Amino acid sequence: MFLARVFTLYPEIFPGPLNKGLYGKAMSENIWDLKTINIRDYTTDKHKTVDDTPYGGGSGMLIKPDVLGSSLDKNLKTGEKIIYFSPKGKLFNQSIAKKISKLSVINLICGSFEGVDQRVIDSRNIEEVSIGDFVLSGGETAVFIFLDAVLRLIPGVVGNNYSIEEESFENGLLEYPQYTKPQIWEKKSVPEVLLSGDHAKIKDWRLSQSEAITRDRRPDLWQKYKKD
Ligand code: SAH
Repeated sequence: MFLARVFTLYPEIFPGPLNKGLYGKAMSENIWDLKTINIRDYTTDKHKTVDDTPYGGGSGMLIKPDVLGSSLDKNLKTGEKIIYFSPKGKLFNQSIAKKISKLSVINLICGSFEGVDQRVIDSRNIEEVSIGDFVLSGGETAVFIFLDAVLRLIPGVVGNNYSIEEESFENGLLEYPQYTKPQIWEKKSVPEVLLSGDHAKIKDWRLSQSEAITRDRRPDLWQKYKKD
């Protein structure tokens, strides 16, 4: 069982898209589970204050370390991995998704406002992860993307494991183009080689397509692929 704990100020939006077909089914089969923790439940004042102004000035508010710290301490066991979604984190990718999919528990913190007090990140050994070079209004949508990428890698979630192995990034390349019926559509036929039944030739064609697309669209991936 893979358990994802999500620390958020908006628990009502979960499981959201993580409840769709595949993932809803896998959850009912106890392959994975989602627990949401409302950070606001760990406030101690009567106004349930979760945020405050930044020391040193500046616009916006920050989630208070005492509130966030206590929400973590009261819900997780020592040694569990904790991720805080943040634009200054390590860039998320398929290889991180793979590593996470092998864990049994992951704790995910959604920031809001301008972020969180740095002391919680340091004292609870929290890893910062970014889902891309852009700024969101909160970590919740980042969690959806993160868990969508992770969950489909857990055995039993996606039926046909083969389809996972052939995908973009699996061999450091982007995926080759794919075609289905009808064989001729708007006067365009599918590439001849795919109709040949020659599996070695098809494999070669797909690899060369993958290489050409990667070279053209993602010079960064292409450089890495050539080096390895
Ligand atoms: N002041 C911060 C941005 C805060 S955005 C800065 O300049 O770095 C508010 C929240 O949205 C963050 O706490 C984080 O949880 C989430 N968020 C925003 N952009 C993100 C990204 N690219 N990846 C992951 N989480 C992000």
